[in-house]
Amino acid sequence: MSGEEKTNADYIRGLEMMIYRLSFKNEVDPEKAVRIFRLIASESRGRGLSDEDLESLTGYRQGEIRKILRMFYDLRIAGYRRGRHPETGATRYYWSIDSDSINVILVSRKKAVLQKLVQRLDYERENAFYVCPNDKTRYTFDEAFEYEFTCPKCGFLLEEDNNSKYIEVLENRIREIKKEIEEDEKKIYST
Ligand SMILES: [Zn+2]
Repeated sequence: MSGEEKTNADYIRGLEMMIYRLSFKNEVDPEKAVRIFRLIASESRGRGLSDEDLESLTGYRQGEIRKILRMFYDLRIAGYRRGRHPETGATRYYWSIDSDSINVILVSRKKAVLQKLVQRLDYERENAFYVCPNDKTRYTFDEAFEYEFTCPKCGFLLEEDNNSKYIEVLENRIREIKKEIEEDEKKIYST
């Protein structure tokens, strides 16, 4: 497997995880939402899929399918174009994935995660921590001082908590996510 393929697989997995999470918020079945996303994303004729197509492919109820499509539309994951039913001539909506806006959404989510990680790292660097050897509760220096270095829950003497390993993990993750954002932005703005 080449590096490029691995990146794409990670990218698709990230997208599906995002759809999964957002489905809970939007009160749609997450498994069904991911399946519909996959079907629309893999439609290769370039025509898009109508809600009728999706109904016959999945057997899900029209109402459920429409709710999922509505969620994709609101989140700028998918868009539609109007067309005519080939036989009846009735108006049909053909759905396809809006890959440019998906990239933008993914990058802004990664940036939000990055910001949280940086805040966390600052907090870890700026504070000294103490931990209860019994129940593993963590306290800042100020809290530990207030409790006279004794765990308020169980009375054990607090020990200094060396967080250098944790800082290292945070630093690595921050480096990775910065690189990902850089690569994603290259993809978006190169097209
Ligand atoms: Zn304790």
